[in-house]
Amino acid sequence: MTSEAHENGHLSEWEERAKGIEFRTRAWIGGRPVDAASGRKFEKRTPRDGAILAEIAECDEADVDLAVRSAQEAFEDGRWSKKSPSERKEILFRLSDLITENLETFALIETLDVGKPISDSLSVDVPSAAMYFRWYAEAIDKRHGEVAPTAPGSLGLITREPIGVVGAVVPWNYPLIITAWKLAPALATGNSVVLKPAEQSPLSALLLAELATEAGIPDGVVNVVPGFGETAGRALGLHTGVDKISFTGSTEVGKAFLRYAGESNMKSVSLECGGKSPQIIMADAPSIQAAAESIASGIFYNAGQTCHAGSRVIAAREIKDELIERVAAIAKTMPPGDPLDPNTKLGAIVDETQMERILGYVDIGKQEGAKLAAGGSRRLPESGGFYVEPTVFDGVTKEMRVANEEIFGPVLSVMGFEDAEEAVSLANATDYGLAASVWTNDVNTAHRVSSALRAGTVWVNSFDASDVTVPFGGFKESGNGRDKSLHAMEQYEQLKTTWFEFGV
Ligand code: NAD
Repeated sequence: MTSEAHENGHLSEWEERAKGIEFRTRAWIGGRPVDAASGRKFEKRTPRDGAILAEIAECDEADVDLAVRSAQEAFEDGRWSKKSPSERKEILFRLSDLITENLETFALIETLDVGKPISDSLSVDVPSAAMYFRWYAEAIDKRHGEVAPTAPGSLGLITREPIGVVGAVVPWNYPLIITAWKLAPALATGNSVVLKPAEQSPLSALLLAELATEAGIPDGVVNVVPGFGETAGRALGLHTGVDKISFTGSTEVGKAFLRYAGESNMKSVSLECGGKSPQIIMADAPSIQAAAESIASGIFYNAGQTCHAGSRVIAAREIKDELIERVAAIAKTMPPGDPLDPNTKLGAIVDETQMERILGYVDIGKQEGAKLAAGGSRRLPESGGFYVEPTVFDGVTKEMRVANEEIFGPVLSVMGFEDAEEAVSLANATDYGLAASVWTNDVNTAHRVSSALRAGTVWVNSFDASDVTVPFGGFKESGNGRDKSLHAMEQYEQLKTTWFEFGV
């Protein structure tokens, strides 16, 4: 692993800074760090080289219960839920500022925890998290209730009230960003939160909780219970003191949360789950090279560990070979590298299990008859870390598992099509519906195809272009809620009608 000059410095500088990080390792309940009631801890290793980073409190049912009670008490006495909107706003601004002040620390934590390139953590993950807290803070005092058009003599007030205790359960691929997607609107609307980070990525959440308290969020309003899904996650899903679950993760676990709600208190559940997002490239795409670049970043960014990764390319037969050649050429320019090296574009896979799963799918694709146009192998095994080359499969057919199942790694499956109808039918032939794109120069085709695509987000002549103003979430088994935008706030509110009768 070598390092050349980069605007973010050198590998050696980041290695040095990484040595100085003090990881927070205890749960955060009632505004202070606590050990798990059982005293148990779990090892957190970095996928960079497999070394142990920290031992983290392993919360289970008892700790979740304590955290939920703490959140309930805080909600009920109104220390946050009844604060004036302007006070909540100022405090969330402070939290946003504290995230920014701790940019390097958060970036290092995120990079060491999950293996994402330090340049991405610095320029994307941490600034976005700070921005989400600021954006939702700004929105707090700009939304109004309604007065219903009732007959004279009555007044129907429709107000938005916080739901109560929100259980936020998040995955490991964008730990800080997805946490911010949930906590920022949940806190802005006055709820208390119990956050269960993924067992693979507990570190940034624990620092965030400490900063939330430093910013002035009252004790008990933000609680973090690191631990495993089957214990801590399940306990949160089943707890009758939790009013709402906001989940991001796999479709399988999303379904488990719906069951938990049914078996407990019918808590509201919103789900952001998996994807197998198609990118349709028509023969008249405005630029094959631009499409190839977008395809490469759509599947290789974050080493493909992105829920809406553009993992299926559906290309017009007349341009497919040229497109694949260009994507494969880009893949060769981004070999996996040390995530602490500022020159690295493709970092590590989160852990060995996930790496083996990805390599397993590469074998399945080969056995099914798909042809490797790039990559396909593990890299840098001598580092002790978990790295997979950017991989492109040509000759994929709709029956193949690599065309249907979420791989969650840097593996692209390419299929050909004859006409727009076939392209749409291939694109929609999936249980998922998170995102899709269409590349064409013809406005009629763009409109026809984008409206036929069953996905929560459709891009025209781009992929993954976005900002906080637009909602993000899935159709079909990709989920049922929306993060981001003002609509996200609706997930953490319930509507209340107050009817006044005059002249009684
Ligand atoms: P996962 O479903 O295994 O885990 C997500 C969270 O659920 C973790 O905190 C985990 O501890 C918890 N969990 C696991 N099993 C549980 C159980 N039985 N009961 C309660 N909680 C449980 O997902 P992951 O492997 O962490 O992340 C990858 C998945 O997340 C992919 O499918 C990806 O597509 C999806 N994802 C979706 C989005 C989106 O916005 N749609 C974003 C990122 C990731």
